[in-house]
Amino acid sequence: MKRLQKTNITNKVPIRTCIGCRSTDAKHGLIRLVNSPEGILVDQTGKRDGRGAYIHTNHQCLNRILDGHTLSKALRVEIGPDDLLGLKKNIEIMTVKMSLEVAQ
Ligand SMILES: [Zn+2]
Repeated sequence: MKRLQKTNITNKVPIRTCIGCRSTDAKHGLIRLVNSPEGILVDQTGKRDGRGAYIHTNHQCLNRILDGHTLSKALRVEIGPDDLLGLKKNIEIMTVKMSLEVAQ
């Protein structure tokens, strides 16, 4: 019966694929980037409309997508160097926020 319980728990946690390392993880361990009318944004609520992509908040995964190619492929949008710079800033703010929440 232990096995059954474990399965039930797993089913309740939404699983998403990180576009940086391509591994899957619980949704709450990833941040969502969304291609919105205002540009590429960090989706803090996870509920914004638009094509989204998920990414781990560690530097390894972030560095992989900040070359632009991986992200533009995932979101199916052209991403310029300025967009990337702005996005990088937003992600950094978000990751600091998240680590503060974990610490509390
Ligand atoms: Zn990752």
